[in-house]
Amino acid sequence: MNMRDTQDVVRWRTDFPILESHVHERPLVYLDNAATTQKPYDVIEAEARYYRHDNANVHRGVHTLSQRATEDYEAARGKVQRFINAASPSEIIFLRGTTEAINLVAQSYGRSRLREGDEIVISAMEHHSNIVPWQMLCQQTGVRLKVIPINDAGEIQLDAYQRLLGPRTRLVAVSHVSNALGTVNPVQTMIELAHEIDVPVLLDGAQAIAHVPVDVQALDCDFYAFSGHKIYGPMGIGVLYGKTELLNTMPPYQGGGDMIRSVTFEHTEYNVLPFKFEAGTPNVAGAVGLGAALDYVGNIGMETIMAHEQNVLEHATSLVSSIPGIRLIGTAREKTGILSFVMHEAHAHDVGTILDRQGIAIRSGHHCAMPIMDRYGVPATARASFALYNTRFEAELLAAGLEKVIELFNG
Ligand SMILES: *Cc1c(COP(=O)(O)O)cnc(C)c1O
Repeated sequence: MNMRDTQDVVRWRTDFPILESHVHERPLVYLDNAATTQKPYDVIEAEARYYRHDNANVHRGVHTLSQRATEDYEAARGKVQRFINAASPSEIIFLRGTTEAINLVAQSYGRSRLREGDEIVISAMEHHSNIVPWQMLCQQTGVRLKVIPINDAGEIQLDAYQRLLGPRTRLVAVSHVSNALGTVNPVQTMIELAHEIDVPVLLDGAQAIAHVPVDVQALDCDFYAFSGHKIYGPMGIGVLYGKTELLNTMPPYQGGGDMIRSVTFEHTEYNVLPFKFEAGTPNVAGAVGLGAALDYVGNIGMETIMAHEQNVLEHATSLVSSIPGIRLIGTAREKTGILSFVMHEAHAHDVGTILDRQGIAIRSGHHCAMPIMDRYGVPATARASFALYNTRFEAELLAAGLEKVIELFNG
């Protein structure tokens, strides 16, 4: 540990068993948190406890285990509601993740409400999950996509955004935080501007949820999507938040069990919220694990996590940006712990491979955001992304690893 790493982070690290592992005989330095986060014992144990003691199908049986499973599942929904301050638990829909949540809105809301010539506004820094579902809707309906440009620092141009909002705009869909650049977008202002002309706003919160406080009522967003696995929870569980009045007017996304109240061959009556959008047996263990993850994060406190991650980001930024031949991609004033860069000497993939030999896990590639790579004229970047368990010492190991990359390529 570095002298200036706090006792807090030393303690938090012991909550994550995988952080004790070694890669290529070096202690693991896990800096790929924007792709997925590691899981604390609390989450691993909560899932295991559920399968050991409570497992049964939900909302169906009168037997004790089924009731316990239903209680666990609905308790998890309540934890999500409180974590993002939704007005009601029925506004919380459990899905597989952010991608499925955005597809649900595109197909259910988009297909039932939008017509040829209508416009959807997204930004130049979106993840493919917040581009492709809208493109599919465009092909199906003749709706058009409008793209908000960004400046060289990786910030949304609010004046350009305002010009894109018009009489044909029907929806704004933007990331709360960019996974490729780390930019925290001015979503509060963007939502206010959209609401002035009665346009609803969907926020892709996949990259925000673990790094900034989220209050959907204060934001007044209409939809908010996030994935459990990016906030120390399990894979295969995620959330769509939607305002009741919007969700109530939307048709179901998929048909099957749990989303119906009664079925005859002539007619099906749909269930109430949130079950209307939860067709089929849900990922109950995943929901329980997500609930445990939110408890874990809540106990530390979002403000504490933010302050810690900013501290590590600042240290890493100053170390990495002073290495000759490195260009940072994404230098917005408001950022979370994401450091994207290209190296003069080496391709991003070589950087990733050489760092891996030193036990350091970063991501190299287009980060599922190819349009933003084009915007910067690079095919790929190397990206280090930080979570609550990363240290200033690890930032120093990253910088030392990058110096080694330069030595290898110059020697
Ligand atoms: C990870 C991510 C997604 C996709 O999340 P999935 O869990 O793969 O569905 C979407 N948007 C952003 C900004 C992301 O970081």
